[in-house]
Amino acid sequence: MKALVYTDLQKMEYKTDYPVPNEEFLVRVMGCGVCGTDLKTYLKGHAYFQPPCVLGHEFYGEVIKTPEGLGYKEGDLVVVAPYYGCGECALCEKEAGSLCQNQSYVDYGAFAEVVGINPSFVKKGVFPIETADDVYTLVEPLACVINGVKHLNIYPKSKVLIVGGGPMGVLFALLLKAKGVELMVCEPAESRRELIASMGIPCCLPSEVEDRKYDNVVVAVNRKELVEQYVEKAADAGTVLLFGGLKRGEDPAVSSHAIHYRQVSLTGSYGLDIAHFREALAMVEANKDSFRQLITHRLPLEEGEKAFEMLQKAEALKIVLVP
Ligand SMILES: [Zn+2]
Ligand SMILES: [Zn+2]
Repeated sequence: MKALVYTDLQKMEYKTDYPVPNEEFLVRVMGCGVCGTDLKTYLKGHAYFQPPCVLGHEFYGEVIKTPEGLGYKEGDLVVVAPYYGCGECALCEKEAGSLCQNQSYVDYGAFAEVVGINPSFVKKGVFPIETADDVYTLVEPLACVINGVKHLNIYPKSKVLIVGGGPMGVLFALLLKAKGVELMVCEPAESRRELIASMGIPCCLPSEVEDRKYDNVVVAVNRKELVEQYVEKAADAGTVLLFGGLKRGEDPAVSSHAIHYRQVSLTGSYGLDIAHFREALAMVEANKDSFRQLITHRLPLEEGEKAFEMLQKAEALKIVLVP
């Protein structure tokens, strides 16, 4: 089958003779989004994904093989969560399934023609969808955003600032807009500001952000100085969400004055819980046209490496690869 294989740092090889996964449940991939984690892995490596391997986890597709009794038949369309927690431990109880020590996950990457799924995963991790639509590649990243929003502290008079107008920042904006929350995105790149403004999302330069105006701040860029800066800039009793992961040891020096005397909270979120995935799927179903705006490019799998280059240069928001 076709596959885009991550063979080394900053190297992807397109193959047409990659082995089809040996599993009882197979999904033919119809589209897979390129995620920030895929890009980070490609550029700098990742402890979990050692080359050679196939990346990609934001996908939907068609069931082409299934055992009886799972509730699916060949030809059914599905979207698949990358992992879920055990559902029984203390972490899962608080919807922190991304930290569960007893997770189930999909063993194969989706920058490929076919993904194999263990039948035991299907009941909780695979969801039926009505139509073949690239918008379903956004369910997984949106689930991560929903996890992030649960860590904010949004009240009716809240004003939310999103730092960084990359794909995740814009996804935060689209979700909060759908919920009627007042928000602003700050982004230095003019091309991105124009794109964001064209979606009807308020957008400004970082230098235009007023001090102490925003009581919820999402830092959707992985730079520690932004965390330091926005803990200072957040309104009294505000919340700052560290959404972009930083390297171990890259610790922001945050103002204890802001945290104690102004009651600013600094919090973070990582990955998703399966409850967030279900919520994201319902949200995408109800707002397809709005979320679809995030997908700026659709490329054949064989041009996959180009997608990584474009994302590196911030020339695109979401890119969907199609085998
Ligand atoms: Zn992702
Ligand atoms: Zn658990």
